[in-house]
Amino acid sequence: MTDLTEAAQRREHILRAAVQQGLLDPEGSALAGIVDFDGVAETVDSLHRAFPGSLRVLHAFAAKANSLVPVLAELRRLGMGCEVATGGELDRALAAGFPPDRIVFDSPAKTRAELERALGLGVTINVDNFQELSRIDTILAGRPPRSRIGVRVNSQVGGGTIAAMSTATPTSKFGIALTDQDSRERLLRAFEEHPWLTWVHTHAGSQGCPLSLMAQGVAQAVEFAEEVNGRVGQRQVVGIDIGGGLPVNFATDEVSPGFDTYVDQLREHAPALFSGRYEIITEFGRSILAKNGFMAAYVEYTKNTGGRPIALTHAGVQVATRTVFHPDAWPLRIDAHDPSGGAKHGRPVRQDIAGPACFAGDLLARDRALPLLEPGDIVVLPDTGAYYFSTPFHYNSLPEPAVHAVRISGDGQVRFELVRPAQQPYEPPTLDGQTAPATPLGGLVYR
Ligand SMILES: *Cc1c(COP(=O)(O)O)cnc(C)c1O
Repeated sequence: MTDLTEAAQRREHILRAAVQQGLLDPEGSALAGIVDFDGVAETVDSLHRAFPGSLRVLHAFAAKANSLVPVLAELRRLGMGCEVATGGELDRALAAGFPPDRIVFDSPAKTRAELERALGLGVTINVDNFQELSRIDTILAGRPPRSRIGVRVNSQVGGGTIAAMSTATPTSKFGIALTDQDSRERLLRAFEEHPWLTWVHTHAGSQGCPLSLMAQGVAQAVEFAEEVNGRVGQRQVVGIDIGGGLPVNFATDEVSPGFDTYVDQLREHAPALFSGRYEIITEFGRSILAKNGFMAAYVEYTKNTGGRPIALTHAGVQVATRTVFHPDAWPLRIDAHDPSGGAKHGRPVRQDIAGPACFAGDLLARDRALPLLEPGDIVVLPDTGAYYFSTPFHYNSLPEPAVHAVRISGDGQVRFELVRPAQQPYEPPTLDGQTAPATPLGGLVYR
């Protein structure tokens, strides 16, 4: 017991309460996600404290990291804004009560209807490319926008250790390239011709990017803003959206790096960001939620195959999609607990921890040394508050698990609040012949 970190003790305390209160149950709810709202409040507070109070900063949570509406609403109450990357995320941000002027819309493929809606609401828009810019021009038809409008630039500073997460590579699909000579010049002219382009946006990557690389990307964006303002002879660019991407430590309970460390790097590489000449938007996602959530799943069966112990659990590809498909880039810690939720302390035995899906690769971990798991035990997957149970994959018709928010009061009382019910068993869809619009194939759509 004494070798558990404070964070592990807290998870154990929450897990015992979840079993006692019936939120986890081997017959009914064999898998659940937990979001620790006390931890979220602490993390958001550390973000607010990391930036100087003298600057105007909007911290917009990247909704894709955890788009559950009650979670978004909690982040709103904690003083955050919201960054959305699709029309669906925009709906969720509005449902969570964010005022439109605290929402930032960043999709690289915004439809005309989505742009009209965002412009009508006054949502901040970051333009991804020249074609989108001319579309906005057409929609505005000479009227000044209510929205803040920026352009996403690609600083092309390079990638991190995970290619799929690196957005500042020379050929990234995102934003307008700053180091391709023709495109930089064309963008400068676009700012001259569109006085309502008043923000510059950049986001160098998400997990796997060194802080210095991210800060260099921001420095390139700030330098470009200065160049625009120099060229037009006034402060047309009033704000820099520095994106998100602070990496998370998945190896231990230590929160590292902190937001303050990143701000130090930003001060070093992009001092003009702190000059007071610019407003700032940030778009952190994973670093706000990952370490404030965990999953718990029952072990259904165990076996021994080819000399290897294997535990078959209820958490797999449906809630740990990246880990299962790309285990080297996205390793997760696993803690073994007994059926009452208490941490198991047996001698470590190398075993595979498998999920329930019907393909051989559905493994949470291979050859992992843990106290030997037995049927009825519970595996806990820390650091999964972002991009895991909140973003389920519907393979094998595995249902979305329930998600509970938790708070612990001073006297140790654990209070849960349902933030997403478990997905209900399949019900046949009803064909609505009266109102269903025709599909491109001429048939009817299911509601
Ligand atoms: C994904 C994304 C973020 C958030 O990244 P995290 O790694 O979760 O902090 C922020 N901004 C944009 C544009 C993104 O695509």
